[in-house]
Amino acid sequence: MSNLFLTEDVMLNAFQNRDRQFEGQFIIAVKTTGIFCRPGCTARMPKKENVEFFDSAKAAMSNGYRPCKVCKPLEKSGEVPDEIKNILSDIEVNPSEKITDYGLVKKGIEPSRVRRWFLKITE
Ligand SMILES: [Zn+2]
Repeated sequence: MSNLFLTEDVMLNAFQNRDRQFEGQFIIAVKTTGIFCRPGCTARMPKKENVEFFDSAKAAMSNGYRPCKVCKPLEKSGEVPDEIKNILSDIEVNPSEKITDYGLVKKGIEPSRVRRWFLKITE
């Protein structure tokens, strides 16, 4: 974690209180379920020893976590293009499969569009 003010206790509290102010500040991942959430998720509070924190959804994903279906941490509030939704659901079904340009083109999706969108939400 790069933000020194976000201690584990602060983040646990934020998650417990579903504090939306912390939206985008960190990602909470649950080791027992392999799922990661936004701070404002309505999922049940996991045990402290079972959680891990990340700077971004991207970091959680590269550590093998899958996005929560309740709070959809990969989707920023607002519009999600249909083609991105398709990709997100592919990731949910098969999180270990790498997304390749070839795979995207085969689906009729423009890879540079997808890349731009992912850059936007993971930065
Ligand atoms: Zn969640």
